Amino acid sequence: MLSKAEIENLLSEIPDPEIPIISIKELGILRDVKLNNDEVEVVITPTYSGCPAMRLIEDQIKEALGEQGIEKFKVTSVLTPAWTTDWITDEAKKKLEDYGIAPPEKFSPDKSLLDPFGPKDLRCPHCKSKDVKMVSQFGSTACKAHYKCNDCLEPFDYFKCI
Ligand SMILES: [Zn+2]
Repeated sequence: MLSKAEIENLLSEIPDPEIPIISIKELGILRDVKLNNDEVEVVITPTYSGCPAMRLIEDQIKEALGEQGIEKFKVTSVLTPAWTTDWITDEAKKKLEDYGIAPPEKFSPDKSLLDPFGPKDLRCPHCKSKDVKMVSQFGSTACKAHYKCNDCLEPFDYFKCI
C-alpha cells in the first residue's frame, strides 16, 4: 500500500487533458488525498462546470491508481469552495504563457464575470505586447477566450478568470 504522499505524487503527475504542460495539481483541481482505512479517497474540484475534461481527469486518476494495484478507491468532487483561477500556481501560470496561453489575471470578486472590456493587463504570450484584441469569447474550449495580438499578429488563447 502506498502512503498518502506517494499517492499524491503519483496523481500530481496527471496532466490537464486540455493543457498537457500543466498538471491537475498545479491547476488546483487535485485538492486532497485521504486514506480511510484501506480505501483511498481522491478529492477533486472541477474547474468550469460542464468542462468535458473533468470526466477524462477522473478516468486518469482511476487508471493511475489501478496501475499501482490500488483497487479500493473513490473520487469525490467537491464543489465548495468553488474552483477559481487563483488556485493555479504561479509556476503553472508561467508555463501557460510559455505554452502560448495568456494566464488568468488575479480574480477579483467585485469584477463582473462578463466584463466587456476583458482583462486589464492582458499581454500577448508571444511578444508580450499589450496591444491585443479579443476575437471571440470562446477559444479552443469554453474555458478560454480567443485573442489576437496587434503587434506580432499571432492569435492566442486567454485562460478566462472565474
Ligand atoms: Zn504578440
